[in-house]
Amino acid sequence: MQAKRIIDAHSHLFQVRVPTEDMVRSTEEVKGFDADEFVKLTDEAGIVLSQAMPQCLERRMLEWMGSNDLCADLGKLLPGKIYACGSGEPLDWKGSFNRDHYEDIKQHLVNGTLKGIALAPPYGHWYSNDRRAYPWYELAVDQDATIWFHHSHMWSTPKPPAVVSHYHKCPLKYARLTLLQDVLIDFPELRCVVEHMGYPYTEELLCLLVHHDNLYADISLMIAPYGTRPSRKLMLARYLGMSREYGVLDRIMYGTDSPGFAKFGEEYSAATYVEQVVEEVEFLENDLPEVMEKAGFPALSDDELEGLLWRNAARFLRYES
Ligand SMILES: [Zn+2]
Repeated sequence: MQAKRIIDAHSHLFQVRVPTEDMVRSTEEVKGFDADEFVKLTDEAGIVLSQAMPQCLERRMLEWMGSNDLCADLGKLLPGKIYACGSGEPLDWKGSFNRDHYEDIKQHLVNGTLKGIALAPPYGHWYSNDRRAYPWYELAVDQDATIWFHHSHMWSTPKPPAVVSHYHKCPLKYARLTLLQDVLIDFPELRCVVEHMGYPYTEELLCLLVHHDNLYADISLMIAPYGTRPSRKLMLARYLGMSREYGVLDRIMYGTDSPGFAKFGEEYSAATYVEQVVEEVEFLENDLPEVMEKAGFPALSDDELEGLLWRNAARFLRYES
């Protein structure tokens, strides 16, 4: 029997969230980073590949989670284990084309130090179909790079005052999937992912998936409870059941969103990461069948589960074992 394989198609591994002026640019600055330990522990757990990306939150929040240089360093130190991506804001604070960010990501893609781009329109308060962002999509297509879209709500704590600031940080009007449909129509070759199943617009996302073969989605942030936020296992079960009925389950990928939203207050390490993956995969293998039936859907077959855990991501990321 083949050993278990897992691909994490959405992570912020070792991407420390700090104000822009304190951006972390190399793994040497990351407390708890140990490349050998990472390889050993992920190999033991069957995690063959982890996507990793910083998140640029500069335009509205004056922050970065990690940086493009840090993620490129991670990819260099862990070849074959990390699918390294970058991030940026297509518009600067004035609303003009952000040439500095564009040139930085372009250089990384052209040099092969990064393979994809993370974009978050609702955090940056811009519409994904804004023509000022189109050069980024053209660049991705030209470089055969992938794009991760945070095109959903922010899973914020229900407690004030954070809820107030989060609403201001992530207005839903920028997250509507119909905006992304314009982009997909204009760039059918664009290889991209909608994170977190695009909630709360998941059924709109499934309609987009039907028509765009290069579009994928990930289930990150739906299994484990994070901080004060409850898990959404019933919602996940419904989304997976609906994905099957729309005929797009083979483009849904497992992802952790680690560590951006994992285990507040704890020191982060490869062990923390692997522990999260092991717990979540155990849920998917052992408990999801019952939750899916509770949600009114047949359980995933072994083949469908294998697709969710690694095969769909392997196709998208062009992973060759
Ligand atoms: Zn994320």
